Amino acid sequence: MKAGLEVHQQLSVGKLFCACSPELSEEVTYAFTRSLRAAGGENRAVDIAAALQASRGLVYRYEAVPSSCLVEMDEEPPHPLNEAALDAALTFALLVNARPVDEIEVMRKIVVDGSNTTGFQRTALVATDGTLEVGGKRYSIPTICLEEDAARKVRESPGEVTYRLDRLGIPLVEVATGPEIVSGAEGREVAEEIGALLRATRRVRRGIGTVREDVNVSAEGGHRVEVKGVQELRLIQEYVEREVGRQKFLLEIREVLVRRHARVPSDPPRDLTELFREVPTGPFSGAGKGGQVVLGISLPGFAGLLRSPPGSEERLGRELADYARSVGLRGLVHSDELPAYGVSSELVLTLRTRLSLSEPDAFVLVTDRSVERARSALERVRDRARAALEGVPGETRDPLPDGRTRFSRPLPGRDRMYPETDIPPIPIPGARVDRLRANLPERPQELKARLARTHGLPDEVVRQLVYGDLVERFEWLAAKGHSPNLVARLLTQDLPAVISERVEGPLFDPTNDLLDEVLKATEEGRIAKEGVPTVLRALASGEPTVGVAIEQTGLSGFSKEELLELVRKVVGENIDMIRSKGDAAFSPLMGDLMREVRGRRDGREVSEALRAEIARVRTTPR
Ligand SMILES: [Zn+2]
Repeated sequence: MKAGLEVHQQLSVGKLFCACSPELSEEVTYAFTRSLRAAGGENRAVDIAAALQASRGLVYRYEAVPSSCLVEMDEEPPHPLNEAALDAALTFALLVNARPVDEIEVMRKIVVDGSNTTGFQRTALVATDGTLEVGGKRYSIPTICLEEDAARKVRESPGEVTYRLDRLGIPLVEVATGPEIVSGAEGREVAEEIGALLRATRRVRRGIGTVREDVNVSAEGGHRVEVKGVQELRLIQEYVEREVGRQKFLLEIREVLVRRHARVPSDPPRDLTELFREVPTGPFSGAGKGGQVVLGISLPGFAGLLRSPPGSEERLGRELADYARSVGLRGLVHSDELPAYGVSSELVLTLRTRLSLSEPDAFVLVTDRSVERARSALERVRDRARAALEGVPGETRDPLPDGRTRFSRPLPGRDRMYPETDIPPIPIPGARVDRLRANLPERPQELKARLARTHGLPDEVVRQLVYGDLVERFEWLAAKGHSPNLVARLLTQDLPAVISERVEGPLFDPTNDLLDEVLKATEEGRIAKEGVPTVLRALASGEPTVGVAIEQTGLSGFSKEELLELVRKVVGENIDMIRSKGDAAFSPLMGDLMREVRGRRDGREVSEALRAEIARVRTTPR
């Protein structure tokens, strides 16, 4: 397999072509609607992805926020390009040893899914030919671009999609790697390194949705597929691995189809509505009423290949259904899943006779109130079935939260770019590049070396701080005089654990001052370091101060004497086990004690007390 990444990082320097606030807003001041159609690109051809999106005929509704302006509504030409954003992109380019272009030419990239009021996205090439080294391997960075972010999708209803203008026009640095990534784990590591390099510019926005990755994957013998808009870095590995698995599956299916001489006819779909009038339940129960039709096509040679093979989660039937959905249907029903959905085995036999099928042949049914839409859905299903005879179709796919992906549209071609005539070319003089080069920030590799050197932290901890975007916080807390190890443990272990276990309520995002208080309490011995998660949990659920949190959780008031007493009691109760098992008795007793102590004393103190007590009773004659 091979894979490449496109990383899109929002910058924190205003908007790219106007002076509006880049903050997301829940306050909507007015709304307006637009329809979009696909026009030809620079060489007059209409891009296939654009044409498909336009053919859906959707109405796009845009919600303005208090700061929205005429540029965002596309009622006024764009203002000159944001120079601070350009400096940030150039700085990143220099960090990866890329070559800045002589002149910035802003282009329009046709995108007609409504995410831009203009029907295009402005984008500019900033630098080429960069490189990156991760784990001793070099990766190429062929292009670095500066783009405007799209509007934010807030709602979808039949025939209408609603976007909000707050995100539209936020500057994005787009970093593309070459296809040199050969495993999911490598993909994740490269994305982490690029993320850390982007943050090194100190001009990036933080938080959910501020960085998005497109992952291009192709398995050997397969085709390039783009998984678009992955927001969670840790899922990149999973998306890559699953996509490779999906492509291998499709290639295996192709072999069987070719062996069987499977084919996809192009005769008109059959109207089968009459046969479904009596179906009592399921998607076909409305057949013949209110204009609802049932149409079917045959797929000779496809029988048994539309369902998942044993032990696989992949299914050709789902791939076909995704294409039916792309014209607005809920889905389809295929012969491998029947009888079901209110369709009896008698009806299946009748359908097979009516469609003149023999044993290796499959069929596909769709139902809809619009016969036009049902027909075009089946045309799309046939396109997808034909692609199955070839292997893997090139597609753009949406990432799903569980690591799977879903077809969204064909891969866009080269026909969608043309020059933005409202922005004059911007020369990049050598002096500007030299000035930025002279002030380059610290690279992640240098940062890691410095953290390891100054604070004596292990490599793995340093890695987590740098790639987890925790360095600023770490340095702030370490500068307060706290032990680097204690701070690192708080930031890389205790805090993430408490944040991730919370299922309800707002995101727990404590201030640096509050964490400073927690660390002080630990160092003053008011809580043991094992008690930190408990205190954080109490703070997360609303306790006002660290003091109150300690009080409420009962972490205070367990003295050294009380600990020793508890140890003597536990050892006393288990004296027979200690005598028979010897050293092996330590672990279970330590477990019991830590459960009793619940973070009120330090773990090392507990283990020392236990060892001493065990040694004492073992040397004492019975
Ligand atoms: Zn604006």
